[in-house]
Amino acid sequence: MRKLRLGDDVDDHCVKCKRITNHVIVSLVDERPAKVRCRSCYHEHDYLQGVAPPPRRRMQSPKDA
Ligand SMILES: [Zn+2]
Repeated sequence: MRKLRLGDDVDDHCVKCKRITNHVIVSLVDERPAKVRCRSCYHEHDYLQGVAPPPRRRMQSPKDA
């Protein structure tokens, strides 16, 4: 695997665009992307490794069911 550097492009899931977009690496930890910024909307977020986070749902405790 090639070494990643700050400013490199990576594909990742953008939570704003709700799709895989080009991202710029803005933070690296152990040579892996920690934070990335979407090239489309400039939203900055933790690197998700291209995996969409689970949809936000209202948390419901079992005792309320
Ligand atoms: Zn985006």
